[in-house]
Amino acid sequence: MADECIFCKIASGKSPANIEYQDKDMVAFWDVNPKAKIHILIVPKKHISSVVTLERTDEKLVGEMVLAARQLARDKGLEDDGYRLVINAGKHAGQVVEHLHLHLMGGGPLGSMG
Ligand code: 5GP
Ligand code: ZN
Repeated sequence: MADECIFCKIASGKSPANIEYQDKDMVAFWDVNPKAKIHILIVPKKHISSVVTLERTDEKLVGEMVLAARQLARDKGLEDDGYRLVINAGKHAGQVVEHLHLHLMGGGPLGSMG
């Protein structure tokens, strides 16, 4: 746990969030400033600052995050029309919270990425 990290605080229950799912390794909660009708963040409980600092030993954790995102997408009825999973890494991607997180976005057209 990083002391001043907002996602560590949410993951440990010290700060509030609208939590949709959690298990021993991760927590998933609604983005406070949603960019899509459905916008949920999947966050490991362990403090990892970014994909940039990810270690090979975190391989299973990241796989589980993707599978949890898929399950949430299923639960929210997003599978027929589709959804987007995004991980921002660093300045050019606009990463603002320095604790790894996977964005699940859907519920309407998301626009093209390129
Ligand atoms: P990034 O740009 O780092 O990939 O995305 C960070 C996301 O976290 C943003 O979409 C932002 O709205 C969201 N966020 C930042 N602080 C909080 C918070 O305290 N609570 C919640 N629920 N979401 C947050
Ligand atoms: Zn953290």
